[in-house]
Amino acid sequence: MNHQFTPTMRTSPLSDNIILPFARTAGAFLGPRGCLFTFHRAAPSEIWKTLPNREFYLDLEFLDRLLTYLTRSGWEIVTMDEAIRRSASAGGNDRYINFSVDDGYRDTFEEVVPVFRRHRLPVTVFVTTGIPDGTLPLWAAGLELALLQKSQVILEGKTIDVDSAESKQAAFRAIAASWECADTDGCYRRFCELNGVDAEELHRNYAISWEMLEILREDPLVEIGAHTVSHARIAALSVADAVAEVRGSRERLSKRLDIDVRHFAFPFGRSGDCGPRDFEIARQSGFASAATTRKGLVRQNQNPFSLPRNTINGAHRSLALMESHLTGLSGFAARMIGRV
Ligand SMILES: [Zn+2]
Repeated sequence: MNHQFTPTMRTSPLSDNIILPFARTAGAFLGPRGCLFTFHRAAPSEIWKTLPNREFYLDLEFLDRLLTYLTRSGWEIVTMDEAIRRSASAGGNDRYINFSVDDGYRDTFEEVVPVFRRHRLPVTVFVTTGIPDGTLPLWAAGLELALLQKSQVILEGKTIDVDSAESKQAAFRAIAASWECADTDGCYRRFCELNGVDAEELHRNYAISWEMLEILREDPLVEIGAHTVSHARIAALSVADAVAEVRGSRERLSKRLDIDVRHFAFPFGRSGDCGPRDFEIARQSGFASAATTRKGLVRQNQNPFSLPRNTINGAHRSLALMESHLTGLSGFAARMIGRV
């Protein structure tokens, strides 16, 4: 891969310099609260800029800066176990944060956990078991990798040049949009055939493996949770299928890794993706908590099976924006415009 390196993170965005002091002052008056953050993938700064689907990744340099900022600002980074305990306990003046990385990409193992390890901070990894099992092809990751490896791709009936970072990004957006409403897995399979791409080989390149998870299991800073078997939208399933996804992922992880899997995260996680029935299924499956991706803060005595969690968009690399999650402002704004 020929990545054109352009430094992107040497200085703070202007918004950080102007907004940050105000946000921090306002936040100091808000009292005890927890905030759960989640993201999927991460990449070093020098390649982040060139990635076809870069909004899906955190810039590792930003993550490093964020962790330093949060710990210096008095936030404690904790496991989900500890977040639940604090939410349930009375009193205190805690301000705590949990970071979770969803799905199970190879970079969780190779890039993300090492950053947390360096800071001696815990991180939760929510695994979709079909990924290390190799039963769930991830078309977006596969398409992205194929675009990175090629300078030309064949689509139904036409060939397009993808010989620069910009053309790869444009191609990713166009192809992903054209696959959205159709049979996405079928479109991806046809794309691989047309372009002589080995989908299984790609999978091995972007997926976390059971061997990597065995290493993470031994790391006292890593907490492993479940994220279904096939990354299904749970609310759309029958009760039996929903149970198979939720409980099935817990059982697979417990058995394969010989661990107690105490926490669950709903795929997609918005209000249309998981509801009260599904929160109950998570409880009955033996989990101690289940997280959504509804924006907001964890308050005292929060229902642990419908936890709010704030997704970090990789394109938003500003500490001020992170403060808007920590003050609850982003959750408030999301509710105002009905994005829940
Ligand atoms: Zn997910």
